[in-house]
Amino acid sequence: MDIKLNQKVIKDLCGTVSFKRGDAFYRAGKVEFTDNNEHWVKATVTGADVFKVTVTKSNDSHFTTDCTCPKLASVTHECQHVAAVLLAILDEQKQRTSNAIKNYDRPVNALAEGLLNIFSNESRRTSGHQLHFETRKILNTVFGIGPVEASDQQMMLGVTMNIGPIKIEDISEFLKNVANRQSAILSDLFTYDPKLHCFQNDIDSIIKILIQIVHDSELSLQDENDFSTLIIPPSFWQQLVPLLKKAPEVLFIEAGEVTGQFQVSTERLPLLFNFEKGTDKDYSLKIAGISNLIVLHKYNLIWMKTQLIQLSTEDCSRLFELKNMLAQSRTDSIPILQDQMGFFVEKVVPGLRRIGEVQIDGDITKQFLTEPLIPKLYLDRVNNRLLAGIEFQYGKIVFNPLEDREPKVNSLLIRDMVREDQILELLDEGSFAKTDGGYFLHNEELEYEFLYHVMPKLQKLVQVYATTAVRNRIFREPARPQIRVKVKK
Ligand SMILES: [Zn+2]
Repeated sequence: MDIKLNQKVIKDLCGTVSFKRGDAFYRAGKVEFTDNNEHWVKATVTGADVFKVTVTKSNDSHFTTDCTCPKLASVTHECQHVAAVLLAILDEQKQRTSNAIKNYDRPVNALAEGLLNIFSNESRRTSGHQLHFETRKILNTVFGIGPVEASDQQMMLGVTMNIGPIKIEDISEFLKNVANRQSAILSDLFTYDPKLHCFQNDIDSIIKILIQIVHDSELSLQDENDFSTLIIPPSFWQQLVPLLKKAPEVLFIEAGEVTGQFQVSTERLPLLFNFEKGTDKDYSLKIAGISNLIVLHKYNLIWMKTQLIQLSTEDCSRLFELKNMLAQSRTDSIPILQDQMGFFVEKVVPGLRRIGEVQIDGDITKQFLTEPLIPKLYLDRVNNRLLAGIEFQYGKIVFNPLEDREPKVNSLLIRDMVREDQILELLDEGSFAKTDGGYFLHNEELEYEFLYHVMPKLQKLVQVYATTAVRNRIFREPARPQIRVKVKK
């Protein structure tokens, strides 16, 4: 279908908020064309729900749109689903045009390239696989990633490289050869020759970064006994991750053994922190699971043999210190004096909850307030604005987290900081403006956003109390069927 489309047309039609959301939907691959012909495009957009969008071409390459999502009667702009589908159509149209240009160009380009290849000086050949006239053999390359101890005793991540069955014994030397387009003897039977061999493009991108590491890194980073491992400086890690994810085969290796396939997850660590009553009146904190993991604190990563887990900088450095502390005292149990216990529960427990599971013995909890968090959200409309107030309640203790995130309470309160944070983050996502003690939304577009996209998530976490002025804003009637009649003269 050919329609007149550009980013501005879509923005005008859908408004900036829907445009941005639609763009995110599209880029996350949530748009799927179900029907695409010269008269209309039908597509589904999958978010929390699946909505069907139809874009129908009218005369003169203009078009009409329709979406199955619920809409506020008062909203004049098209929704983000329509925006997502229009962006998909726009990209598809662009691609068709550029392919047409490429096809037209190809004979000329290929000839020129062929001619250059015949009379080439070698520098035109990169180590990567080229699209045209490539006659070199693509080398089957496997990378290994795993923890290594650097010369300064820090745990670092290292990379090893295999070509086919051959392990590269001196990776820095080999990478230098690749960079200089020189051949390298890798075994009695195989010599790498840049004139005969090349790498698949995804592998080549990784090799380029590794070459940079070899150029940049100081000798002190190298393991003097093992030249097969190149230590990855933390500053290069973030660049490497997406490439390693794309490469055909990257393995986890620990102490020479393959332990799994490369992946980085944000899963919860299998750590258990148990506060127990010890002898006499004192307590102890027992920590289980910490000896099995390696903290790669310069990368904010935890190595767990079969997976790498990404942590926030704060959580990772806390875990690093905790592990060091336990290692130095050769114990997995920390004694806590009775009068320290309050401080622990209040200040340490919330942090521990972020990196693992916390259990507190019944004997201990009796002395603290362990009522569950009951969060309440109050919504009202005044002067054409949506107002929101938030209240956190633990038993008899009620406070407004916007006024005071650290309320002074007489008894020791075990707070659910994870959930408190989730709720406040969601409210921030709603683009509310903050006033003393409350929130308000200053336009209708944001209000629609909030009521339809943020509220469903919030409702899972908080009790919502809305006045009828707010309830009336939510349009719940079923969509009426539409009949269109076209009359041709
Ligand atoms: Zn929609």
